[in-house]
Amino acid sequence: MITDSIKQEFIAIVTEKRYLDRQEELTCYAYDAFLVEAMPHAVIFPETTDEVSQILKVASSHNIPVTARGAGTSVCGAPVPILHGIVVCFSKMDKIIEVNTRDRYVIVQPGVINADVQKALQPFGFFYPPDPGSINTSTIGGNIAQNAGGPRCLKYGVTMDYILGMEAVLADGKIVQFGSRNVKDVTGYKMAALFCGSEGTLGLVTQAILKVVPLPETTKTLMVNFNDLDDTANAVSDIIGSGILPAAMELMDKFTLNAIEDSAGLGLDREAAGSLLIEIDGTAEACEKEMGRIVERLKANNAARIQEATSQAEQAQIWTARRSAYGVFARLAPNLISEDVTVPVSQVPEMIRRIVKIAKNHGLKVGVLAHAGDGNMHPMIPADKGNKEEWARVEQAFDEIFEAAADLGGTLSGEHGIGLAKVKYLPLVMNQDSINLMTRIKQAIDPQGILNPGKFV
Ligand SMILES: Cc1cc2nc3c(=O)[nH]c(=O)nc-3n(C[C@H](O)[C@H](O)[C@H](O)COP(=O)(O)OP(=O)(O)OC[C@H]3O[C@@H](n4cnc5c(N)ncnc54)[C@H](O)[C@@H]3O)c2cc1C
Repeated sequence: MITDSIKQEFIAIVTEKRYLDRQEELTCYAYDAFLVEAMPHAVIFPETTDEVSQILKVASSHNIPVTARGAGTSVCGAPVPILHGIVVCFSKMDKIIEVNTRDRYVIVQPGVINADVQKALQPFGFFYPPDPGSINTSTIGGNIAQNAGGPRCLKYGVTMDYILGMEAVLADGKIVQFGSRNVKDVTGYKMAALFCGSEGTLGLVTQAILKVVPLPETTKTLMVNFNDLDDTANAVSDIIGSGILPAAMELMDKFTLNAIEDSAGLGLDREAAGSLLIEIDGTAEACEKEMGRIVERLKANNAARIQEATSQAEQAQIWTARRSAYGVFARLAPNLISEDVTVPVSQVPEMIRRIVKIAKNHGLKVGVLAHAGDGNMHPMIPADKGNKEEWARVEQAFDEIFEAAADLGGTLSGEHGIGLAKVKYLPLVMNQDSINLMTRIKQAIDPQGILNPGKFV
């Protein structure tokens, strides 16, 4: 509980304007894009690192749970304050502090939106590769805490690969800095990497130094249709296995293509059993060569139609189709479970077969959407949580999907994280000693356990 005197301590730090505790205001911070909700007792909006430090000093002195929040686009319940307490929302710490292309970094506050970083870099001919589907809404702080990925992470890597350094505030209010502005830095433990993907359980990120890279000279985008879903998946592992690394390779099955077409009417092929959106980038000459090799592999895997975007507008349209999938599915039923399993690329065809079979066995609709080039699949099941019988089948199906991923040497999450959604599945992919080690790290850094309690540690 937050007593009146504790409330006054918080207000003394951020003023009344940046402290919310009315029920109708708190509701907006009780959920993310997952299915579980929990009300915070208060939401606080810091503007500086010093304020974050003071907030945490007050919270730790009264043992109050603290959950950080960026934009709330997490799909695993990570920012849901399951044990209540306060939510520290970073929406007012949204500045780009420095763009330095000579030394290839940008320094940002955690509440800055990913797409705004891209916009700031474009005039300099640079970009920041991690590009989650939520690029237009999610924050860099949330991306770091979830170690977010996205389509072009196939070639460029995920958030952790771009964190040169960071500033964070620990549970007791101490301000720490890890890493530096240097592209190479092996000074001590790579603490920034530990905080990356920690889902706000180790400290609150208040500043980040991100590595940036030059924009490629050319980008080519292909939309490829197949009459057989197995051929679609086989083409993916064949292309990767041939030593070709596209910037992105996104797979959509028939159900997904038709759901998008129903809603957006983009002229997608309704009859295709599967499609691949393939993007390559680099110099014009290298792209030309790579494209030839990709087309060869696609034909060898029975591609029915290969269409190259001939303008930026066509490229944008193809990506709009892909990026609208989540929103389109969300309209099919009261609830949508978009999961996130990853298997080695060679197992993509088998994993897709198993997902489809499991859903069919349980009488459920499933759409398969995948960052297929890195084995990362998002099986999406629209259903109604209010229908207890149907929901039991959904839960059973996901139990089996996670077991299948583990069985194929895969893992529980490629990018969405564990949050509240997948804690119970951890033992499928980690032994008890490994789980205990994470718990000991958590205890060493946050001994009172006030940072995002109730999550995976
Ligand atoms: C349509 C859609 C598409 C998506 N596509 C992708 C995708 O392609 N790839 C992908 O990886 N994810 C994707 N996601 C999931 C989600 O967008 C990402 O996990 C994103 O990184 C969350 O950012 P956020 O700012 O919304 O953070 P939130 O959801 O607010 O929080 C996420 C986690 O970060 C913690 N956190 C937030 N800020 C801080 C901070 N400053 N310090 C410490 N901890 C903090 C929170 O406590 C929480 O644990 C998608 C989600 C949606 C709805």
